[in-house]
Order: sequence, then C-alpha cells, then structure tokens
Amino acid sequence: MPRLPTIAIVGRPNVGKSTLFNRLIGNRKAIVRDVAGVTRDRLRGTCRFGAWRAAVVDTGGLDPGAAEPLVAQVRAQVLAAIAEADALVFVLDAREGVTALDEEVARMLRRVAKPVLVAANKVETAAQEAGLADAYRLGMGTVFPVSAEHGRGVDALLEAAAALLPAPAAEAEEEGEESAPVRIAIVGRPNVGKSSLVNAIAGEERVVVHSEPGTTRDAVDTVVTVRGRPYLLVDTAGLRRKGRTVEALDKLAAVMARRSLERADLALVVVDGSQSLAAQDARIAGYAEAAGRAVIVVVNKWDLVGSPDRAPELVRTIRDRLPFLAYAPVVFTSAQTGAGLDTLFDTVEHVAAEYAKQVPTGELNRALTAATTRRPPAGVRGKTLKVYYATQIGTRPPTFLLFVNDPAALHFSYERYLISALREAFGFTGCALRLRLRRRRASHVRLVP
Ligand code: GDP
Repeated sequence: MPRLPTIAIVGRPNVGKSTLFNRLIGNRKAIVRDVAGVTRDRLRGTCRFGAWRAAVVDTGGLDPGAAEPLVAQVRAQVLAAIAEADALVFVLDAREGVTALDEEVARMLRRVAKPVLVAANKVETAAQEAGLADAYRLGMGTVFPVSAEHGRGVDALLEAAAALLPAPAAEAEEEGEESAPVRIAIVGRPNVGKSSLVNAIAGEERVVVHSEPGTTRDAVDTVVTVRGRPYLLVDTAGLRRKGRTVEALDKLAAVMARRSLERADLALVVVDGSQSLAAQDARIAGYAEAAGRAVIVVVNKWDLVGSPDRAPELVRTIRDRLPFLAYAPVVFTSAQTGAGLDTLFDTVEHVAAEYAKQVPTGELNRALTAATTRRPPAGVRGKTLKVYYATQIGTRPPTFLLFVNDPAALHFSYERYLISALREAFGFTGCALRLRLRRRRASHVRLVP
C-alpha cells in the first residue's frame, strides 16, 4: 500500500505546535507514538485537504524537568522530525518575533533537503500580518500567517503542503506502521563490528532517542536518515557495553540480540568476514529467524578479506552453516571504509518493502493452484492434502492462511515446497514466511524457512 506523506510540525516550545496539530487533524483521532520516543506525548494523526491526505506528526512537548538543556531537547526533536518527515512545518510565534531558539531551528532546517513551510502563528487579524517581516528575514521562503486557534490561514498552508507532496492514492494507508520508520536490530557476536557499523551508517546525522524514558530498561535507539528515509537502529546503547570475559561478552550479545529483535522489523545479522563462522554466529542468526524478522546477513570487515573473489565462497559457507536463513540476502560491508553500505541500504529498502508486502488473494490462489498442479501432494498416512483456498492474513512477517481438508496431511517437505512456490511467485526476499493451516477451527502455526 502506498504510504501517506508525512509532515512533521517543529518549533520551540509555546509557539502553538500542538494547537496547529489539532487543527490539522480536525476531530480525527491522534495516536500516541513511542516509535521515535523523543518525548512521551509524541502524536500522530491524519490530515485532509480535499482528496489529499497526509500523516501529521506533532513532535510533542518538552520535559521541563529534564536534565538536558532546552536547546538540546529542541535539537533532538527537530532531528527526529527531519528523519521521519517528508516535509516540515516550522512554527513561529508572530507576536513574539524570531528568537535565538527559532534561529537555531532554522539553521538546522536549512541544511535539510526536505521542503519546509514556515507558519507564523497567532496571526488573528490582517493588521497583525505586518509582523511577518521578522519571519521573512529567516530566508526560508513564503511565510504563511496562521491562527491555529481560530483556523485562519490553515487552508493556505495545507494547499501549499499538498502542492509540495505528491497526492497519495486513495487507498493509501490512513495511519501507523506504513509511515513509521523501519526498525533495524543489529545483532551478532562481539567484535564483528556492530557498533562500528552503527557509526558508519549514522555518520553526522544521528539522533539518540530513549524509547522508554524513565525506566531502567535503558533502551537507547538511534534514528538515522538514509536517502531521505528514516530508520530506527534499535538498542544501540547495548552495542557499546563491554564485559570482561569472552563468555560474558557472548552471553551479553545473545541477551542483547533477543531483546532488540523483539522491537525490530528487520535484523542485520553481522558476521566477521575475516574469521570463520562460529557456533555463536549461528545461534544469534537463529534468534533472528525464530523471531520472524526480516533478515539480511552482513559480512563485515570485508576490507580485511583481501580479495573480492572470495565472495561466492563466503556465501556458500554462510548457506552451509546457516541453512535456516536461505532466504536472507548476503551483503558485504566494511564499517572501516564504508564499502558496501550503499548496497546494504538498497537491500534494506527492498527487504523492508517485502516484509510489509500484501499479496492479492486472487494472485495468491492462482500461484498455489499452479504449484499444487505442478506437483500434487503425496499422501501422508493415507490422507492426501487438498488446499481449497488461501489468503494472506498478515505482514511483518508475511503470514498465509490455507484452508485445507486436513492440516495433518501436510508433509513437512510439501510445506517447504509450497513456501518456495510462494517465494518464486512473489519474492519475499529476506522474509520468513508463515503458513497457518485451518480445517474448521483446527489450526496450527509453523515457521518455515
Ligand atoms: P561490536 O562488538 O560488534 O560492536 O564490534 P565493534 O564495532 O566494537 O568492532 C570491533 C573491532 O573491529 C574494532 O576494533 C573495530 O575497529 C573493528 N572493525 C569493525 N568493523 C570493521 C571493518 O569493517 N573493517 C576493519 N578492518 N575493522 C573493523
């Protein structure tokens, strides 16, 4: 499903961001987000202007009790907004004029290759529009005088936003997951280069967010923008922790992997290309598979391998040792030189889309019928499977419900065959596929590579 364009509302405290947010979403429902978790009250809603729609994000209030200085909090919020939005609405208070903090926000927004609409708020009368000169001095294009409270000027702002952002198709998703950043867990045994990869990916544009502020869980994520798309690198604080013994480190890596996989869409299973695959690599890769995450195997330290000719051999070794991840693409990187990071993100974009893909029921049934015709099921203990009808009941991971005469008549090898037929027909690169079989009420779930 096409995703709605996302607009984030940014600005220093008290300029009227929340009022504008509420005005933009009208009386539609806002949902509280914890995904980018900069503040607890981060809100998201849908706004409409004629047939055009967009997701709107309110970057939320700031915590006056926080230890961080205000300017740091504002900066973090603006960076997080930049990461996830397609366009930004920068709100000023026309009555107060441009403050030093506004200048700071403007400075950040000027560096971003995303459209910015400047809204000078609290303009209730035509006479007050005289006060816009200050806002124009920021040099950020047209200033839209609005009154979030009374609704004045909001249509003109939306009209400009609609012109800037392509209109989504009518069936675009109203809200939620589709427009939220892809959450990536970077897992692997110690010293394969996980934190180096985070640094190489994040570069300058890094926002650290606490996903559960105030708890001892200490989940610290990093938001990065790659090619204009936001990604949330899950649990990045844990990557920097160092234990004492090899055993302790291994144990910690396993705990971290399981924990971050819980919150991720996609797992980068990192291995060290300059060393042979260890049992611990396979164990952690197994967690990613069992969690049903989309998986990419990242062979890091490629700069130490010497010859690119060794790639096919390494892929063979990985297929051999991690047979349950046969569906996962393998990408070669060097966190040190940055080599392969482009390919990695090509792959991440592709796999993330596959993970969220929904196959139309008609096509699904045609593919399964062709598969069962090509190779009819053999009998299992006197029973022969009949697949009557199938439908995709879930994404992330892709999950299919098959109505059959008798679930027990599905042989393990035939289940594999059906899964590979689905892959052949629809791709689903990097995704574990789940089949659920049902005869009346009876059902069972299996995870099949
Ligand atoms: P982590 O425990 O998986 O987070 O691993 P680190 O990121 O701490 O990296 C472990 C060591 O490997 C450090 O000394 C890094 O400098 C080094 N390293 C990481 N990635 C690469 C790489 O791509 N090439 C080379 N040559 N060294 C790397």
